[in-house]
Amino acid sequence: MNAEIIAIGSELTSGAKLDTNSQWLSVELSEIGIPVKYHSTMADDRDAMLEVFRTAANRSDLVLVTGGLGPTLDDLTRELLAELTGTELVLDEPSLAFIRDMFEKRGRVMPERNDIQAKFPAGSTPLPNPIGTAPGIWCEVSRDGRTSALFAAMPGVPSEMKRMFAEQVRPRLPGGQQVIRRLDIHCFGQGESAIEEMLGDLTARGRNPEVGITASKATITLRIAAQADSIDACNRMLAESRQQICATLGDLIFGEQSETLEGTVLKRLAERGQTVAIVDAGTFGLICQMAAATPHSATSFSGGTVVGTALKYQAGSGTQADLVTEQSARQMAIECRESFGSSFALAITPYSEPDGDDGLRKCYLALAGPDICAAHEHQILNDMSIAGPRAAKTAFNMLRRHLLTRE
Ligand code: ATP
Ligand code: MG
Repeated sequence: MNAEIIAIGSELTSGAKLDTNSQWLSVELSEIGIPVKYHSTMADDRDAMLEVFRTAANRSDLVLVTGGLGPTLDDLTRELLAELTGTELVLDEPSLAFIRDMFEKRGRVMPERNDIQAKFPAGSTPLPNPIGTAPGIWCEVSRDGRTSALFAAMPGVPSEMKRMFAEQVRPRLPGGQQVIRRLDIHCFGQGESAIEEMLGDLTARGRNPEVGITASKATITLRIAAQADSIDACNRMLAESRQQICATLGDLIFGEQSETLEGTVLKRLAERGQTVAIVDAGTFGLICQMAAATPHSATSFSGGTVVGTALKYQAGSGTQADLVTEQSARQMAIECRESFGSSFALAITPYSEPDGDDGLRKCYLALAGPDICAAHEHQILNDMSIAGPRAAKTAFNMLRRHLLTRE
């Protein structure tokens, strides 16, 4: 089955509003395995709508339409579906009673022209709209006398459309009874392609559960989606995949769902009754901000020092270049730990000037603690928008890995 989505409304084609309905519906359909091949958006215009409806009926098995179900003259969806199915519009008494009741509940009398919203192409099925006055329409449009396309027309108002899709349309679709459950597993320390390679067949397309890989600011996330006929079955499938992924990636994994790298590090410190302080000359305070924004910052983040690029830090005779060394990173971490009286300190040195043909920069990251004082060189990639988050996360990851060795 392949699908297509049609969004109707002059407010969409004029640019006054963005068509978000099609995007939302596409995501919903992809979740039940129905691929969407076309999106069309058109004005409330008879000829345009008829042409698009006809084309859709001929090329798609399922056509989802939003908008054009209102009571006014420019709302043409129901009329055109009648034309397409070669039927008349007939009154559906239960729908009329419902719409009347809807007005009465709001203390108003139903305007006569709202009658039209209770009329449906003969042979079609009204789709109740519990939160609005426009019921939807479910019907079959024949294409060549032998096969037909399924049409579901829903209101344009996004909240009404979403509810109608979930309650009335989705259950009528093949696979629509299926349940989907998701689990996100986050890793840090390897690139997307390296992780994909490690996981092998687990990330194969079409597998159930499906394991997708996304990268966001150097965090790699495995998005697992299990599809089955019950929540229990989904949960069992997720648990099995989680176990396989953990066995393969081990310590590269730092958390799940909404957990962040810095959040898990500060949480672990809180559990151990320990603290961390930070001195940052590389990320313009980003690493301090990340630590301060975690739920456990009140107990485990002692504080931070952001060193500006003017670099008055450790003034003395040193130049900026003297500060971009392993030794200086260690020194920064040790002094920071002393001045905040924390269990651990992380340090990020300034970035070096671009070097060589590829213009790469570097900095040093250091960790000081009760029984550790380590520093690493850290390459700054050319994409400066992820350089800061990547350096900050690499520093947190040093502390995370250190804590793992002291469990
Ligand atoms: P009905 O919604 O009952 O079919 P209608 O076509 O008269 O009737 P509109 O008045 O056009 O509905 O739209 C109602 C609201 O829904 C408006 O705020 C409109 O911008 C919004 N809307 C309609 N279509 C979409 C869409 N595809 N994406 C996002 N918002 C939409
Ligand atoms: Mg409209």
